[in-house]
Amino acid sequence: MTTLLPPHAVLLALLLAAAPAALSAQPKLIEVHQRIAADPASTPQLALTLDACSGQFDAPLLNHLIAQRIPATLFVTRRWLRRNPRAIALIKQHLDLFAIENHGANHVPALIGAERRVYGLKVHADLPQLEHEVHAGAHAIRQAFGTSPRWYRGATAIYDRTSIAAIHRLGYEVAGFSLNADHGARSGRAAIVRRLQAAQAGDVIIAHMNHPESGTAAGLIGSLTALRARGFVFVRLDRVQLREIAPPAPYRAARAP
Ligand SMILES: [Zn+2]
Repeated sequence: MTTLLPPHAVLLALLLAAAPAALSAQPKLIEVHQRIAADPASTPQLALTLDACSGQFDAPLLNHLIAQRIPATLFVTRRWLRRNPRAIALIKQHLDLFAIENHGANHVPALIGAERRVYGLKVHADLPQLEHEVHAGAHAIRQAFGTSPRWYRGATAIYDRTSIAAIHRLGYEVAGFSLNADHGARSGRAAIVRRLQAAQAGDVIIAHMNHPESGTAAGLIGSLTALRARGFVFVRLDRVQLREIAPPAPYRAARAP
């Protein structure tokens, strides 16, 4: 017996069948990979960047940075700020150590397209939505800390040429990275330690400060001190310039930033 599908189901089936062709026509997805632009003869520098996407506050990690006087750049969302007033109170006491930069309002990837998803996250339907994500993220930072962000890192750190141009038009630099320490807070301590042992002068390290249950704090604590003992100096992104490592890396879904 043949089952007749209602018209909207037929339409949905046709749309799904057409989706791969539509996706292949969209601009290439890229990760922005950057290193610190510095004189090779100068003191070797590393930039530690920590994303606070949503969820909780990794207090042991932040307390370690404070105790050891290790500067870092914190990419926070409005969503995370609203959920973590204790973190705001702590960070506000240490704005000499921490630069607060923009990770958006609601942790929506900086891409446009009704059908697109990155790491399972829906992206913006149109340009005004992307612009609102950036503006509202910055506004939340100004309200919480009284500082104005200069760098933007979209959720998932995946972009295309259109979204990068839009972020630049709004007056922000796009913050990439060169050393993915915790792969989206999914790595265990041993893997993080191994990756950080291989850090080189100029690396921009990305990790997370919103998953206290993960191996990130265990991997970073100790590794950062060891890097400093080897002569590395940690710097904030608002105190340095970055240079892009050409060509930009293609997006590979297996390596969450
Ligand atoms: Zn994030």
